[in-house]
Amino acid sequence: MSKLWSPIVHTLTPYVPGEQPKIQNLIKLNTNENPYGPSPKVIAALQAEAADSLRLYPDPDSSRMKAAIAEYHGLQVNQVFVGNGSDEVLAHVFQALLKHDSPLLFPDITYSFYPVYCGLYGIQYETVPLNDQFEIDIDDYSRPNGGIIFPNPNAPTGIPLPLAEIERLLQANKDSVVVVDEAYVDFGTESAVALIKSYPNLLVTHTYSKSRSLAGLRVGYAVGDANLIEALIRVKDSFNSYPIDRFAEAGAVAALQDEAYFQQTRQQVIASREQLVTQMQSLGFDILPSGANFIFARHSQQPGEEIAAKLREHAVLVRHFKKPARIADFLRITVGNNMQNDALIQALKSYLSI
Ligand code: PMP
Repeated sequence: MSKLWSPIVHTLTPYVPGEQPKIQNLIKLNTNENPYGPSPKVIAALQAEAADSLRLYPDPDSSRMKAAIAEYHGLQVNQVFVGNGSDEVLAHVFQALLKHDSPLLFPDITYSFYPVYCGLYGIQYETVPLNDQFEIDIDDYSRPNGGIIFPNPNAPTGIPLPLAEIERLLQANKDSVVVVDEAYVDFGTESAVALIKSYPNLLVTHTYSKSRSLAGLRVGYAVGDANLIEALIRVKDSFNSYPIDRFAEAGAVAALQDEAYFQQTRQQVIASREQLVTQMQSLGFDILPSGANFIFARHSQQPGEEIAAKLREHAVLVRHFKKPARIADFLRITVGNNMQNDALIQALKSYLSI
């Protein structure tokens, strides 16, 4: 606390990301990173970028990257916005599109960065409870609003919302922006990108941090009607002209060009998830249906907080959220590679004495 701070700083409750501890031989299943490295073509592109040209600023429009993304999704370049991770893209979305007289709506159990952006930008919001199955119920969103945002699949539940439900929401909600945060969409959830041409108020955000294995590079993007993208560009160019550095652009373009690697690694994660679900169910866990690279699981007898603490003693890190009370017994566990998943199962077996 300091009187030297701008007054708003006293009111902020910043987002706390999952731990990145420096423990040896850690099995890190707490931040939904991809267990497989990026495509070798990405590494080659990054190496080529380490050159004299680094003394020059990058392209402020990231045109190569936008062109690659537009082509990938069958869109126009003016329907694409890129940023330093989808967190930065989301920050601009909140400021550019979601601050209105009516409250922004999002689920009560969802990505906990959303209320943080509301605090930063002074956006009023209302949370909408998930139903008893921890699902988003579209009918609960038919009320006056200044925007709607949710991840699909939702985080931390992992539950996917069918595309038909998203279309039903868009049919009923035409006067405010609907943002679908598709950070985990490539692990078995239907994308809403196909609806962009029909709904000018739909914005879809994606990240390279999960299915493209590039959390360390910080690349994310939004796609939507050119009118929405223009608002984002206005905010971005009032904030930072060069959010995508030369490495990020080269890596992002190369990642999109290696479709085979992308398909192979994401299918492997999906297959491992299904195996992990079966193994954990046999240990007494109840697991919500997941369309993501993580599962949300609770044990029939043991409290979530205690299981997380015991796993940590075995150098296995998973994510436990204390709040809200409804999810206090759940653990969010990232799907790892075979070795990591086996270590998790062995640690659970030893704790549960099975
Ligand atoms: N949306 C959701 C739902 C997330 O879980 C995350 C990862 N914490 C992000 C967006 C942001 O990801 P990134 O900034 O790495 O693109």
